[in-house]
Amino acid sequence: MPFAGGDSLREAYRKAEKNGFAFMANNIAEPTILLALLKTYADATSDLVVQISPGAAKYMGSGDKRVGLRTLCGIVHELAEAFPINVFINLDHFTHDEMDLIEMVIDERLVSSIMIDASKESFDENVRISRDVVQLASGSGILIEAELGKIKGVEDEIQSDEAFYTDPAEAVEFIRDTGADLLAISIGTQHGVSKGRNIELRTDIAGAIRDRFAEEGMFVPLVLHGSSGLLADQVHDVIRFGIRKLNKDTHYQYGYGRAACRFYLEHQHEILPPAGVEDDVINLFSGSEWSPSKKAFDPRAVGKAVQEGVSRIACALLEQAGSGGQALNG
Ligand SMILES: [Zn+2]
Repeated sequence: MPFAGGDSLREAYRKAEKNGFAFMANNIAEPTILLALLKTYADATSDLVVQISPGAAKYMGSGDKRVGLRTLCGIVHELAEAFPINVFINLDHFTHDEMDLIEMVIDERLVSSIMIDASKESFDENVRISRDVVQLASGSGILIEAELGKIKGVEDEIQSDEAFYTDPAEAVEFIRDTGADLLAISIGTQHGVSKGRNIELRTDIAGAIRDRFAEEGMFVPLVLHGSSGLLADQVHDVIRFGIRKLNKDTHYQYGYGRAACRFYLEHQHEILPPAGVEDDVINLFSGSEWSPSKKAFDPRAVGKAVQEGVSRIACALLEQAGSGGQALNG
């Protein structure tokens, strides 16, 4: 299907609210994980939210975030055409230092939603910056996610040492003042690897925020960052209390590393020369009887193994989110 913009994404969140499921928002920084996600989500008849962080844009643009954003978004747009599900792109953790990039993706309609992260600023400054982005995006259909409260840990270029829970009354005021479409809240999760059983998860806060919005007649899907370490039960709980988007990055990174590690350990003797053979990479071992095996060293071989590993994880996570069988065009 053609790449799906913010209007379809809003519809997808409304369906999630009505049917009580959520979307895993899956970070990508290169195409292999994306390929695994597309196949897995299409097989499960789930729409797919992928997200791009400033660090991913920098990586894919060889240091130039603008180039990286256009490249990654272009790959997603083209591949989306080949799959029967809606594919959405969210920008993850962009800040007011990246306004030029935010303007570019809005002007060129490259994404479906944008997260502006000013959660480290004061409430008033957070409102001002988030509102600026909402105004920039007005008329484009692109949804804006803002964050209130602080989440512990390091993610990409943003670091917080302390966690602060989101205040439900402030959440309503914040959305009124900014006009943001989605709200990332802080209820005790951490960015990066954390152990779910050690997290003091305040689902009561999520519930209170959701109830406040409902009382005001506002529809604001809630977002949970730092949800990598959550156990399946905890994911079900937060969805029950109104979380509609859970950010996932670490799982796929681990899935990638693990599958690649296994593959290369298994095939190391087909890639690295045995003792006694001259390590003549430049002449591809032409002076020796031994040759490396193309079946093992072709990047597509490890790529396939990585896709299988990532797919298993993606499949389990989308089952937790409950988005399977819920595609808008399913
Ligand atoms: Zn985050």
